[in-house]
Order: sequence, then structure tokens, then C-alpha cells
Amino acid sequence: MLAAVWFVQAQDQLPVRGFCIGSPDASHVDAFVKFIDEELAPRQVNTLVLRIDYNYQFESHPELIDEGALSKADVKKMVEVCKKHGIRLIPQINMLGHQSWAGKLGKLLSVYPQFDETPGVKMPEKYKWPNDDGLYCKSYCPLNPDLHKVLFDVIDEICDVFESDAFHAGMDEVFYLGDDKCPRCGGRDKAELFAGEVNILRNHLALKNRQLMIWGDRLIDGKTTGMGAWEASMNNTYRAIDLIAKDVLICDWHYERADQTPVLFAMKGLSVVTCPWRKPDLAVKQTQDMFRFRQQATSELKERYQGMMQTVWSGASSFLDEFYGKKVNEIESQSACFKALFTEINKVSTVK
Ligand SMILES: [Zn+2]
Repeated sequence: MLAAVWFVQAQDQLPVRGFCIGSPDASHVDAFVKFIDEELAPRQVNTLVLRIDYNYQFESHPELIDEGALSKADVKKMVEVCKKHGIRLIPQINMLGHQSWAGKLGKLLSVYPQFDETPGVKMPEKYKWPNDDGLYCKSYCPLNPDLHKVLFDVIDEICDVFESDAFHAGMDEVFYLGDDKCPRCGGRDKAELFAGEVNILRNHLALKNRQLMIWGDRLIDGKTTGMGAWEASMNNTYRAIDLIAKDVLICDWHYERADQTPVLFAMKGLSVVTCPWRKPDLAVKQTQDMFRFRQQATSELKERYQGMMQTVWSGASSFLDEFYGKKVNEIESQSACFKALFTEINKVSTVK
């Protein structure tokens, strides 16, 4: 018994206790600020990733502003409440992949069609998967010489307004990369193309002492692991794990099993955060694994096991409706997973 108590006391707090969600639209900012204040802060959440994309009134590139975009004042409300609670607020704009969703082209490629990696693939009237083009989401061409000027402008502006010391670049589920028909990328090594883009973004952010965060799926071998084309890579990008800068923080999402992939990242010298979605039992297992990895690691490896981050794939207003019971809350839901995750994190961290 004494040994068991000592074991728990020896546990430490996870460096990253995160929450990731689509940013609220302007009309839901106040409700979201209240949620940060009353629900995230008391659960000791210390990292909030907000998916912005072009949902902000960019001064540097007004042509990219999406409908109903957040104003600077909207963002500052969220900045202030996060400051009050010591929460690290981090904006996300999807880089490389996810430049379209279903039948809708994203803002970057609708304004700058010349950045499209696969201009020959037309957006369908009615999107269905699978389709003959293998169109999941569009990608931009990472070797277009005019691309990064635009991206760096919006990245810098969003990080400035968020007063953030980190940026999340997404980069998950990139299916179109090194397309044979692209005059710049065709025939190139996809792992090198992927790593090249990661490192360009990382180096730009490093100039202002900002950290890059990305999703981890492109760095896992989908064939050998059996994890497939979404959760891992079936297009040979996984060797990029050895080519990217070691200070990129990997957000390792697994929604079906408690895969032990954090060990892969940590042993490659990369820091990693495990991300559950909507299965409470799984989130608990993954949290216990994260504590166990830290406890059983060498001191070199331990600090690479950075913690946990709940991922919410709906927008903020829809999540808040679910969280506050305004719509039917099923056992496997994002809000149930979030509650279970932080109950577990705080149980292990605070038991005396
Ligand atoms: Zn290209």
C-alpha cells in the first residue's frame, strides 16, 4: 500500500494539458471566453490551440478574409482570458494539405489558384469519397516560388495578434504531394518535400522564437504499422521523421486505439503530445500511458513526452451546445472525452 501511494506521489504534472478546437465565429466569442474561464481554467488546461485558417480580418492580406471573420477585438478577448489563467494560446492555419473540404475550395487556393498542387483536378459539384481523382483535400504546391511570402505574412500577423510563442501548421492527411503533373514537384521524394515544408515553416517561426506544432500522421509508416492512409502515411512521407528539425512539437492523434507511437517520436528526438477525440475510455488509457512513458523514461526521453491534448473537430459553438447539454450527449462524444481526459490528468497529477 505504501508503495502504491509513493508511486502516485512520484508522478508529476504533464507539461502540456491541451485543448484544440475550431475558433468561434464572432457571435460566439463571449460564450467561448466564458467557457475558457469557467471550464478550461479550473481543469488546469494550459494550452489552447484555435483553428483559425482565414477566419480573421487579416490586414496584410484582406483578399484572404473568410466571411464572418474575427476582428482584432474578438481575438483580444480570448487573449486576455488566456493570459489571466496562464493558458498558452496558439493559432492554427492549415499548411500544405486541407486546402479544400468536401466540395469547397479553401480561401488560399480560391484567391491564388496558381498555388494549387493539382490544378488539373476540378472541384466536384457533389463531393463523394472515394472518387476517381483521389481527391480528399487539395494541397498547395510547396515549391511555388511566390507561396511563402503570402504564408509568412498571415502566419506572422496571426501570431502577433494572438501574442503567441507557437504556431500550429496542421499538415495532416496530405494526400496530394509531389504530384507527377506538377512541373516543380513531380518526381521528387515525398518525404523530402514534406520535411522541406516543415523546416521552412519552422525556420521562419524560429526567427521570432516561436515553436512549430504539427499533426504527426505523415511521420508514421501506414503500411508497416497497419494504421493506413489517414492516421499514418501511405505515400512515403514517413521518412521525414528523420529530416525535420527536432524542436517541432508533434501532436500525435489516435482515435481508435491507444497506439504506442509517442515512443517512436520521443526516440527520434521529437517532443510529442497524444491527442484523443471522442472515446472517453481511450483518452483515459492514453493518459495513463503518457504518465507511464514519463515515469519509465531516461531523463533525456522523459521531457519529450509532453502531455495530452483534446481535439475537437466541430466548431466551437456546436461543441458548446454539446458540452452544456443543449443537444443529445452520447457516451462517445467530444465533450465526454474532454471531461474524462481532464479528470484522469488531474487525478494522477494531484493525488497526495
Ligand atoms: Zn508542386
